[in-house]
Amino acid sequence: MNKLIYLDYASTTPIDKRVLEKMNNYLTTKGLFGNSSSSNYLGRKTKNEIENARIRIANILGSKQEEIFFTSNATESINLAIKGIIYSYFNNKKKYIITSSMEHKAVLETCNFLKKLGIKIIYITNSNIGVLNLNLLKEKIINKTILVSVMHINNEIGTINNIKNIGNICKKKNVFFHVDATQSIGKYSLNLKKMNIDLLSFSAHKFYGPKGIGVLYVKKKKPKIILTPLLHGGGQEKGLRSGTLATHQIIGMSTALIIADNEIKKEKERIKILKKKFWNEIRNIPGIFLNGSFKNSSPYIINIGCKDIFNKILMLEMNNIIISSSSACNSNKYNTSHVLKSLGLTKELIQSSIRISFGRFTTEKEIIYLIKELHFFIKKIRQS
Ligand SMILES: *Cc1c(COP(=O)(O)O)cnc(C)c1O
Repeated sequence: MNKLIYLDYASTTPIDKRVLEKMNNYLTTKGLFGNSSSSNYLGRKTKNEIENARIRIANILGSKQEEIFFTSNATESINLAIKGIIYSYFNNKKKYIITSSMEHKAVLETCNFLKKLGIKIIYITNSNIGVLNLNLLKEKIINKTILVSVMHINNEIGTINNIKNIGNICKKKNVFFHVDATQSIGKYSLNLKKMNIDLLSFSAHKFYGPKGIGVLYVKKKKPKIILTPLLHGGGQEKGLRSGTLATHQIIGMSTALIIADNEIKKEKERIKILKKKFWNEIRNIPGIFLNGSFKNSSPYIINIGCKDIFNKILMLEMNNIIISSSSACNSNKYNTSHVLKSLGLTKELIQSSIRISFGRFTTEKEIIYLIKELHFFIKKIRQS
């Protein structure tokens, strides 16, 4: 087997062919390439298509059409949610953000930036399996707290936070709640109508849509949530996010979400079986360990390590298997994983850990191959 085996779906996914086909209808003179802000015929037709896409996305999320705002990706949505709230509500009495140390860098670095403006960031410790400690959260929310930002599914270890319960706590304590749902949209059904989530972010490229498009969900409630925009200009997206809407990207995202949603249960069951098979057939390798929890985690992500096996060496040996030594962003800039660090792993164990993430095109044959390769190369590295 010389072709590439892609097992890094948590970092990005390829566009589904059906998505690409749809997108092609909005780019050239043969299609609706108009500017949706223009009042001419082409602009109106284009706007109509965008609004239909917005309705479809809203229906799948159990939200209202007016609650969906298009951005360029999850990172932008997260920045807009957190900075947008802080710029609007920050004052001498309100200056705390609560988050966890296992968030994506998009959240952590946004919070870091806000520190310079005098915002205080409180990091809630996770349990030893990497789930937010709700009792601690309850204790830590005080009058000065403005916002809680917590991810649904962790992108490095797959652990799942109970965002429904966290939402209830936030509502009771009267603080805003933002969820980074980038690893769950398209894989988990959420009904936002039934949850106390004020803001929610995600990117299309994690569910077989194009890169460069995302959503920020903003709950419609009383009193109205006022977000300060980051981009000023033509006033698109009700003034919250100026800039000509990327029609083809939006259509691509809604098409991708519809396809993912249609198969959501069946696909999760299929992947669950593959993950179980994988773990069962490697767990007896001497020195192997699992990061996070197997039970309370997404079937799409597994993070494992093998004592005394340097992840970079293992990845070099298994060159045609595309996996990750930690999250994609981390492996560029930071040479260690803040998520594994906050789980309490030593530097040595972090450097022995790999993330494998499964997806739509993952087959049983690929998993069998991966199992075989892991057994072979761990033995080989140990003998050398
Ligand atoms: C991928 C990811 C992001 C960032 O998404 P971009 O598309 O790069 O902006 C944020 N949070 C989580 C949990 C992710 O997995």
